[in-house]
Amino acid sequence: MRNTKKQIEKHDLHVKTGDRVIVTAGKDRGKIGNIKKIIASENKVVVEGANMIKKAQKPNPMAGIQGGLIDIEAPMDSSKVMIYCQSCEKATRVKHEIVDGKKVRVCKKCGEHIDA
Ligand SMILES: [Zn+2]
Repeated sequence: MRNTKKQIEKHDLHVKTGDRVIVTAGKDRGKIGNIKKIIASENKVVVEGANMIKKAQKPNPMAGIQGGLIDIEAPMDSSKVMIYCQSCEKATRVKHEIVDGKKVRVCKKCGEHIDA
């Protein structure tokens, strides 16, 4: 038995769904994609086009699914991705600024807003 005492913490990841990120480790190092999904409880993210794995798909004629092997993105550790700044064209860190009472994320390197 694990995790009986410790509650699952909701991690506050440094990225969120839809963010443009660059993969900084592993076989897809250097790949840039958008975050498709965040699994906060496991500290994992799914990045579009990165960390692809083959997965067996069960045929489902009702849904028009043929079955066989499909390529899907596997979740990866959130520490392996960094925010990608379109302005610097580099991996960057963000800082938070309050603009017009709203919290916005800003590139630490060039000051460009990350959130469009
Ligand atoms: Zn920048």
